[in-house]
Amino acid sequence: MPNWTRYHQEHDLIKENGRYYCKKCQVDWASKPRPKSCLGVPRYNIRKNRPSHLFTLRELEKKGKKPTGAPEGYVHMLNAPYWIFLYDISKTIPR
Ligand SMILES: [Zn+2]
Repeated sequence: MPNWTRYHQEHDLIKENGRYYCKKCQVDWASKPRPKSCLGVPRYNIRKNRPSHLFTLRELEKKGKKPTGAPEGYVHMLNAPYWIFLYDISKTIPR
């Protein structure tokens, strides 16, 4: 697997109504986020707004599939490694 830590890049910030919003990870903050903390793909909440076609590697594994392309989103976690990438199930092959 490629090393996705390279996804740590600068946010693409716009300031709106006194808040910062990143066009790449689609997160907004009340204060300026740490530099180089952008994963470059949209952040979702696993329970609230995860698109139905995006799955974690573990979920894909259970379905007997593996992704063929780059992640298309991620979900934040409280513990290290602090995020899990999500992959489009239509871009997978049988393991
Ligand atoms: Zn960002």
